[in-house]
Amino acid sequence: MFQAVSKPAIIEVAVPCPLRRSFDYLLTGKETHAPQPGQRVLVPFGNRRLVAVIIALKTQSEHQKLKPIIELLDAETPSLSAQQLALGQWAAQYYHHPIGDCLQQMLPVNLRKPGPAEARPSPDDCWQLCADWQSKEAPANRAKQQLALLDAFVQAPQHRLNREQLTELGFKRPLLNELIKRDLVEAVASVGITNTAETPPTLNAEQSHVVDAVTAKLGQFSRFLLEGITGSGKTEVYLRLIHAALQQGKQALVLVPEIGLTPQTLERFERRFPAQVASLHSGMSDNERLKNWLAVRQGDTPILLGTRSAILADLPKLGLIIVDEEHDPSYKQQDGWRYSARDIAVKRAADNHCPVVLGSATPSLDSLFNVERGRYALLQLRQRAGDAKPPAIQLLDIRRQNLHEGLSTPLLENIGQTVAKGQQALIFLNRRGFAPTLQCHGCGWIAQCGNCDARLTVHYRRQTLKCHHCDATAAMPYQCPDCGDDHWLFEGPGTERLEMLLQQQFPNTPVYRIDRDTMNRQGDVENRVEEIRRGGAGIIIGTQMLAKGHHFPNVTLVGIVDMDAGLFSADFRVVERSAQLLVQVAGRAGRAELAGRVLIQTHCPEHPALQTLLKQDYRRFAQQQLAERQRLQQPPASYCAVLRSDAVRLQRAEEFLQQLASALRPHAKGIQMMGPLPAPMTRRAGRFRCSLILQTPNRAKLHQLLSLATQAGDRIKKSSDLRWSIDVDPIEL
Ligand code: ADP
Ligand code: ZN
Ligand code: ZN
Repeated sequence: MFQAVSKPAIIEVAVPCPLRRSFDYLLTGKETHAPQPGQRVLVPFGNRRLVAVIIALKTQSEHQKLKPIIELLDAETPSLSAQQLALGQWAAQYYHHPIGDCLQQMLPVNLRKPGPAEARPSPDDCWQLCADWQSKEAPANRAKQQLALLDAFVQAPQHRLNREQLTELGFKRPLLNELIKRDLVEAVASVGITNTAETPPTLNAEQSHVVDAVTAKLGQFSRFLLEGITGSGKTEVYLRLIHAALQQGKQALVLVPEIGLTPQTLERFERRFPAQVASLHSGMSDNERLKNWLAVRQGDTPILLGTRSAILADLPKLGLIIVDEEHDPSYKQQDGWRYSARDIAVKRAADNHCPVVLGSATPSLDSLFNVERGRYALLQLRQRAGDAKPPAIQLLDIRRQNLHEGLSTPLLENIGQTVAKGQQALIFLNRRGFAPTLQCHGCGWIAQCGNCDARLTVHYRRQTLKCHHCDATAAMPYQCPDCGDDHWLFEGPGTERLEMLLQQQFPNTPVYRIDRDTMNRQGDVENRVEEIRRGGAGIIIGTQMLAKGHHFPNVTLVGIVDMDAGLFSADFRVVERSAQLLVQVAGRAGRAELAGRVLIQTHCPEHPALQTLLKQDYRRFAQQQLAERQRLQQPPASYCAVLRSDAVRLQRAEEFLQQLASALRPHAKGIQMMGPLPAPMTRRAGRFRCSLILQTPNRAKLHQLLSLATQAGDRIKKSSDLRWSIDVDPIEL
């Protein structure tokens, strides 16, 4: 008897749903092409139709009564490459997150809906003759239209035509496609048409050393931590490394933090690599994102510059990954699939046998620990590139001092001297609004958010009270709701309050406020930064929005209003982040030829952490912190995960985690279980939140326990309002 080799008639797919499993479906048999893993497929799911991704082809299924699919969506090329599919499957396992959601997030938004994997062309789409077009076979003589189009390209300046010009000349897209198919014409990835690449500066000795060290490892998996103070020329080093990778025919992926990807950053890359840079960030339209995502996937564009989710894009010839400001918390997604783009970057470098460079002026303790363990090679830039001098840092002891809306007299005097010289002062306060607390002077009543365990912030000009943790907003009350008194106390400063004070004190000096209240439209920050960079005296007030990416050459004074709470917090994660923020803000001063000064107001001038930072020594500060964490077996000296729950009643959130903890306890030998405890801000947006913390030096054990947790968590009977999730390698508790 012959046994027929059966054609795969079943596909295993990942459906975007909260279940940690895949599903089998039947093919209809009417598909016009063979299905492949990575392709999108429309399937019936409950009473909905969902876009799923094929994981595997099968001839048999362990499930009964399979439903047929509705439609294969991708014509030929799968939307997710084999490598992306493998990455998604790895990540679903590592983060213990539903595979359907991981794979969906790897797709651009437009591909999460049914429809072809094509971007709508935009008017500035542009095509050019391929460099080697003359060596390619020309269209046949009878293909008159094709020849006419080819001739139009030959005649065009720089041999380029954009979409508008093509329409004007009467050429249609299918005709263009014919020339593209023959490798005569190619898409120009970016709009930077006219530029020729700028000439790079000569590297200094330290920069050359770094470039040589990484270049030597192109083509191999290698991990580098590039520690370089602000202005030491890290970006220049990145540009050289990218150049080296491109010369080897490779692609480069550069990640920057959420607020680090400014038009200035993009321009800097485009000036060096005209028409070779695609970007991906949240400020783009879905269509633009899809277009750039496809350009990189097709290998048309060699460089991808993007924020967190760009790490999930497909670069078939990936040969170099750079993560700038690697310590930045925006690399960790804070809801749903809580992945770390920085950590995935290292995983991708391993898969692609290429170097990954993590760069920062204030490296994370995780990365420094990896240097200590010999996993990452340390590269350093100790001097500022060009002639800029590092700023001098000084503490202002404000104990028992008179404060004017939070500013001490010496700080105000220094601001005055700075603007009198026609220079700029930058005042940093990581708290927006007028005052963080509104209190009744008659009875002590404090305005609280009705949905969160938080106070309402006063926004004076708008005469409103706002919760900075949910969307609650209320009008500023005339009278105290408890005692009827109308005498209010505004406790503590916010950026709005500083702005009003400084405008009053320096009526002839422009005061610029940069925070989420003043900068809410796309481009606001860039416009404001441009204005400041034009020079002249000025005072800049801002939150952490200021701390990154922007260079203010005319700033010679940085004032830090209040950092005590963050630097001396009981949560080691908060301390690390505050120290990084402080050093980053300090780095905004004296970038050009003008030397800078940094004044830090504090109530604890003797505190060792502050003393260490004062000596410009973030590195020693980090080493002290790291030693402490090793002693206490805290991350990165151990591995951590948090199981979280939230519900409309605290008891339900607590009960769920208690049951989960009981189910896990017999299997948790060697794992420290803390909780369940109410989360730091227990009630937020009307929901009560609890967490159960797991910590152990044994990573494999942790992941075994988390696998058990996913099963146990699904089994426990839950009220319908209960939500729970797993956070692997958390950056907040
Ligand atoms: P970072 O990324 O470390 O903040 P940048 O690469 O932005 O540093 O460099 C800071 C400034 O110094 C930039 O204006 C840059 O153009 C300039 N720069 C960098 N490297 C050199 C060099 N080798 N020679 C002259 N100027 C340089
Ligand atoms: Zn009162
Ligand atoms: Zn609230």
